[in-house]
Amino acid sequence: MRKVISVALPKGGVGKTTTAVNLAASLAVAEKRVLLIDADPSGTCAIYLGIDPEKTPGSLHEVLSFTKRISQVVSKTQIDNLDFIPAGEPSYQNEDRVARLTGNLNLFSNMLHHELGEYDYIIIDCPPYLKGFTTIALIASTSVIVPMRAGQFSLNALKRMVEHIKWVRANYNQILKIEGILLTMYEANTKVWTMTRADLEKDLGPFLFKTSIPRSSALTVSEFHGKPAVLYDAKSKGSAAYMSLAMEVLEKDMGITRPVSINSNQ
Ligand code: ATP
Ligand code: MG
Repeated sequence: MRKVISVALPKGGVGKTTTAVNLAASLAVAEKRVLLIDADPSGTCAIYLGIDPEKTPGSLHEVLSFTKRISQVVSKTQIDNLDFIPAGEPSYQNEDRVARLTGNLNLFSNMLHHELGEYDYIIIDCPPYLKGFTTIALIASTSVIVPMRAGQFSLNALKRMVEHIKWVRANYNQILKIEGILLTMYEANTKVWTMTRADLEKDLGPFLFKTSIPRSSALTVSEFHGKPAVLYDAKSKGSAAYMSLAMEVLEKDMGITRPVSINSNQ
């Protein structure tokens, strides 16, 4: 296995799931072997992929409950090189239940690294909070992509995210890096984006992906069709942007561009 990338920010509606699904699909279209794991109990990745979780061999919920092994719950998708593990059991949004399932912080990481060696990339979609699923995903990851919308609330969430990444690095997973900060629903030349970008570039400029994801209706409409945008409308600007993001990730891994250290500029 080459890389495990979590997509995370403790704020709702910033494009985490859209990014996880479309990046995973774009890497698969680029002929990489990819596994997408839905670690958000709300289970939206399955909708984007047009998969009925009831008809899959199992879910992350069953794995963390020790009912099934992680290698037994992998499903095929409409894309040849893309496999999927659904979240399962939406009732486990209940806080006590989440705390029980994610209490052993290293369990998920151990399962992932011992049983799922055949993938080039594992992409994990995280929920909009840090405790529980995001923490176990970060402990299992080699890097994290942080999607950002414009605005002060997203900037505040990003600061909390960076602190959390540092905490995970210091205590559980020294190799965790920031893969990049991704601007989503981006609209150039708007006042709010100009202000958001200026704030980001002050402290975290080196972490910004060159690619940003423009506001694109194809990304939302594709959800209704149960298809990642690269399948629904490969020519849309949203699909093209996610393909460009996949290329940026691949180039970084081929050493064409150098990754930035988490401790630089902070
Ligand atoms: P949550 O924290 O609730 O899981 P999220 O961060 O995963 O949210 P998404 O579900 O990916 O966010 O996106 C929220 C909404 O914004 C969705 O309806 C999605 O279709 C839409 N959206 C995401 N990215 C874009 C974009 N670039 N252009 C237009 N709409 C977008
Ligand atoms: Mg989501």
